[in-house]
Amino acid sequence: MSENYIRVEGARVHNLKNVSLEIPRNKLVVFTGLSGSGKSSLAFDTIYAEGQRRYIDTFSSYARQFLGGIERPDVDAIHGLSPVISIEQKTVSKNPRSTVGTITEIYDFLRLLYARASIAYSYNTGKPMVKYSETQIRDLILRDFDNKKIILLAPLIKGRKGHYKELFEQYRKKGFARIRVDGEILDLHETIKLDRYKIHDIELVVDRIAVKDEDKTRIAQSIEQALKLGKGSFLLMEHESDKISHFSRALMCADTGISYSEPEPNLFSFNSPYGACPKCTGIGQITAVEPDMLIPDKSLSIKKGAIAPMKDIKNIWLTEKIINLLEAREYTINTPLSEVAEDHIDEILYGLPQGLTYKSKKGKEKTVQFEGIVNFIERHYGESTQAKFKRWAQSFMNTTTCSSCGGSRLKEEARYFKFDGKAIHELAQMDISQLAEFFDGIEKRLNDDQLKIASALLREIKSRIQFLLDVGLDYLSLDRPAKSLSGGEAQRIRLATQIGTELTNVLYILDEPSIGLHQRDNQRLINSLKSLRDAQNTVLVVEHDKDMILASDYLVDIGPKAGLHGGKIVMSDTPDKLSSAKTLTAKYLNGQLEIEVPDQRRKSTEKLTIHEPRGNNLKIKQVSFPLGIFTCVTGVSGSGKSTLVNETLYPILNQHIYKSVKNPLPYKKISGLEHVDKIIEIDQSPIGRTPRSNPATYTGVFSDIRSLFANLPEAKIRGYKLGRFSFNVKGGRCETCQGAGLRTIEMNFLPDVYVECETCQGKRYNRETLEVRYKGKSINDVLDMSIETAVTFFENSPKIKRKLDTLNAVGLGYLTLGQASTTLSGGEAQRVKLATELSKKSTGKTVYILDEPSTGLHFEDIKMLLAVLQKLVSTGNTVIVIEHNLDIIKVADHIIDIGPEGGRNGGELIFEGTPEELIKNKKSITGKYLKEELCQTKKNNQSL
Ligand code: ADP
Ligand code: ADP
Ligand code: ZN
Ligand code: ZN
Repeated sequence: MSENYIRVEGARVHNLKNVSLEIPRNKLVVFTGLSGSGKSSLAFDTIYAEGQRRYIDTFSSYARQFLGGIERPDVDAIHGLSPVISIEQKTVSKNPRSTVGTITEIYDFLRLLYARASIAYSYNTGKPMVKYSETQIRDLILRDFDNKKIILLAPLIKGRKGHYKELFEQYRKKGFARIRVDGEILDLHETIKLDRYKIHDIELVVDRIAVKDEDKTRIAQSIEQALKLGKGSFLLMEHESDKISHFSRALMCADTGISYSEPEPNLFSFNSPYGACPKCTGIGQITAVEPDMLIPDKSLSIKKGAIAPMKDIKNIWLTEKIINLLEAREYTINTPLSEVAEDHIDEILYGLPQGLTYKSKKGKEKTVQFEGIVNFIERHYGESTQAKFKRWAQSFMNTTTCSSCGGSRLKEEARYFKFDGKAIHELAQMDISQLAEFFDGIEKRLNDDQLKIASALLREIKSRIQFLLDVGLDYLSLDRPAKSLSGGEAQRIRLATQIGTELTNVLYILDEPSIGLHQRDNQRLINSLKSLRDAQNTVLVVEHDKDMILASDYLVDIGPKAGLHGGKIVMSDTPDKLSSAKTLTAKYLNGQLEIEVPDQRRKSTEKLTIHEPRGNNLKIKQVSFPLGIFTCVTGVSGSGKSTLVNETLYPILNQHIYKSVKNPLPYKKISGLEHVDKIIEIDQSPIGRTPRSNPATYTGVFSDIRSLFANLPEAKIRGYKLGRFSFNVKGGRCETCQGAGLRTIEMNFLPDVYVECETCQGKRYNRETLEVRYKGKSINDVLDMSIETAVTFFENSPKIKRKLDTLNAVGLGYLTLGQASTTLSGGEAQRVKLATELSKKSTGKTVYILDEPSTGLHFEDIKMLLAVLQKLVSTGNTVIVIEHNLDIIKVADHIIDIGPEGGRNGGELIFEGTPEELIKNKKSITGKYLKEELCQTKKNNQSL
């Protein structure tokens, strides 16, 4: 029995209510339930945490002392647990050297392939490089120089400075008679004087000989000697014409003499000094000052702010240098820059390191030496430890593609090894579907030798490419930086990589792998998970997606609601039982509950129109975002939704309203900006990074609560002010934990662990502060109160109640006011932000942008989210969301569909209009799925 099941007994982590359950092994198991019901607490904080703990227990005690102990999760027992691997979304590498190619290891296999089976070409001539053995060299010379007089030259010095007296002496003593210096053959017995500060090329004359077949042996001996003295290569000069040919045992360009060493895999690695482009050190991009940004308006004088960077910081040293420089060139700080000569502007920008001596107005001799504004800024960018200066410097810098490697990150030589006509970086630039085409049938295009070396490697490469295609990532390329991937993309790459490792008997835990994926690609993802299962693994997925739930072998539904109203298993069975079950999930899936489609779509009068957005793959002529209504941007993954909304529209608005630094991706123009006065992006990132922030502080309701406490008679008598009730400043708080209520224990390699403060027992405040009570509760009791309780508790304080009401209205009544923001789920954080927005006075001209707000949300959560969004719209605001979730798409007033496919086959505007119009559109993939969804909803309506 035990080997067929994983048995959890008595789990009590977070809100779990002493839960026990059996999970069948080697099945695809879905955990579902409302956001905050306890899915992650069970899947990650109990099962995965216990797996990790047992894994670390197997390490030597020596290793464990570096890892730190992991506490046992609050669970009685877990039986039948196999090794656990979690495939999360958060673990995206921020390292600029990490790419899709490196994390999938495909690039590593390619490097090996190129080291072993590629053909080298000369970067000077583009012709194949040659490589000869000594016998081949001899035969070539006998053939090509028959009956000619030739001179064999062994290269000693290539392009280096020096007088080389000792060198000449050394070879004269060895009995050599002649030497070729900078193209001229000289007698070694005469004094040779070289300019030691000039660059020289020096070759030793090894032999002068007329090529004849009967002299084979002598020729071979001389070749051997020339190769030895020339360290593997030599030059051949024809006596008559002085024409030079190059020969080498290494890879060599026969025309120009450049040679490559034998390729090793690290030659193709941009993370190795052997392969990296020396200019950008393998990053592919260079961040440097953009001179155009420094002088936006030449009609101004420096005093009036002609040099933009000098307006933003007051640096006395810099100002003095500039004044001196101007004085030296006979200008003043009041001269408009248009009257300053170009050369002199260049001195201001790029400096004059030699210095300049001049007579000042007072007749004194002065010297000014200056590095130039450009270097000044770059120095501060590179060296300054102050964030303020770094930011200042950065605002005048631009990141551009490295001109030396063209963004390929590789040094020149590495880019001239080709496999079936393509260099390695060309393969890295292809999207995965193109790459699959390239490798399709490659075996037929290779010769026998190549095939023998490459076939095993090709198998690995091709199967990994197939896994990426299977998880719907055909539009990515291997050179795509890992840090630019979305969480869902990164997770699916890790999934593809795991399938490639062919492990068995593992428990995989995944958190919403459907995020970022279009409905169309769901089936492929489900198939990948099933193939992981079919390889004898248990696959446990936390998921809300209908298709995934229905495709599972086993379903665990957690609820009935969230937080303290959740934490129980409400269903644990095969999904076919959903039709008769009574849980919220079941009701949504069997049609008893549903998210309703509004009868009418709102119309807008004003709009924002972007003309010719051109970022990444976009090929749109113009696209309009209607204002004052609810718009959904849709399209398959990689079609260009984020490029349009997050990388173009949002930064445009942000620059317009807040003068932010980040540039939008290219576009021609935008109209309608006058109708917007605020832009807010609401994502699922934590509302604060420390346990000190919580829903009460974030929404601002805590200041109101503090002032209520400070106004209590008891507080007045004691002279307690507002600050006394803050846990962020000295005075009223517990000083041991500085008001956190927790002590942080830093763990090497693992996230920080928090334990209750022993001085205040987690109460955050000192005893005196806690003696002040409102309706019998201390300020800390209030922080421990759930929001729904607090609504009633503060019913006589309208200002406080109004803010709490909004939190309650977005379905967060179960959270406590003081729950540390680090423990909120992404969906909870998102709703705290929305609630805060709702409680503000609306300007009616605000644009809200949300990227996949359905992440982590159950049908019921989505219903609440939609209610909040509709409320924001009904007060005149604009809501723009990127979504794949059909329940959200179907209620939008307006849809912008991008596609038709991802990557280079996407980026077009397929459709703009209402959902009803979209489903008539034949070209739209989204339209096809929306049609099914809307028909389904209609059917349900009729049957009710
Ligand atoms: P789900 O994964 O179903 O969205 P979670 O398991 O993340 O839900 O959370 C269940 C409940 O436990 C929620 O009310 C959440 O706020 C709470 N919770 C999560 N992490 C912690 C924590 N570290 N400390 C206290 N409460 C937590
Ligand atoms: P969506 O949001 O619809 O999933 P994206 O806007 O993220 O699509 O991507 C559109 C195209 O642009 C894809 O081909 C993607 O690979 C490419 N792309 C997106 N971000 C970057 C980036 N930082 N660097 C290079 N290409 C990118
Ligand atoms: Zn470069
Ligand atoms: Zn304390």
